[in-house]
Amino acid sequence: MVHREELAAYLNETLDVHSITDYAPNGLQVEGRDEIRRLVTGVSVSQALFERAVQAEADAILVHHGFFWKGEESRIVGLKAQRLRRLLSVDLNLFAYHLPLDVHPEFGNNAGLAELLECTVEQRVTVRGIPGLLWLGRVATPVTAAALAERLAHTLGQQPVRVGAGTEPIRRIAWCSGGGERLIEEAIAHGAEAFISGELSEPITHIAREAGVHFFAAGHHATERCGVQRLGEHIAATFGIAHEYIEIPNPA
Ligand SMILES: [Zn+2]
Repeated sequence: MVHREELAAYLNETLDVHSITDYAPNGLQVEGRDEIRRLVTGVSVSQALFERAVQAEADAILVHHGFFWKGEESRIVGLKAQRLRRLLSVDLNLFAYHLPLDVHPEFGNNAGLAELLECTVEQRVTVRGIPGLLWLGRVATPVTAAALAERLAHTLGQQPVRVGAGTEPIRRIAWCSGGGERLIEEAIAHGAEAFISGELSEPITHIAREAGVHFFAAGHHATERCGVQRLGEHIAATFGIAHEYIEIPNPA
């Protein structure tokens, strides 16, 4: 068992939350019961995740995408009210870690992608003041764009969208989990031959073609599953509590 405040303090320190400026509060977002014996992790807040956490008899939920994003409606109304009402009614704690969980060198989504890609990490680049937002590495055996797409499809469970016009074979790869596609020019500036992120937005196709690089949109959700799972397993081992990752499928 771990007390809520002890877990919050441990997570905040482990993920170094105070050194990162983010678009949402990192840490304990919704306070529930004091004692935590069972932790559920998931990528994003949703009623579906909350219901599964209740079924699993969880005491706390840890997600990558939580509540209270900068610029969103700040009143507690509509769907947000429904979600918060459900959480509060069952006394569940909600922890959320956004950018700190993308960039963490061990538990982060970018670290997880490095493993899936079988890349030797060469650089963790600071972008917009956030250390490790963009990672670069090298594959042991150079790959074609089709083979890299196949590797992503196999390891992430969904076919990536592939655009661009790079040279092959690919050796140096850059990646940023989730909605990091706009870092493509940073990736190019650092000599990437291929750039992997979660989503494709309209201008990226032309940038990739003109720069002669391959871009893979491997899925926002799919590229951000690993962080919460790695962190959940670490918490379970550290505090001797139960942990279960709950997948709520999302093709985005
Ligand atoms: Zn994200």
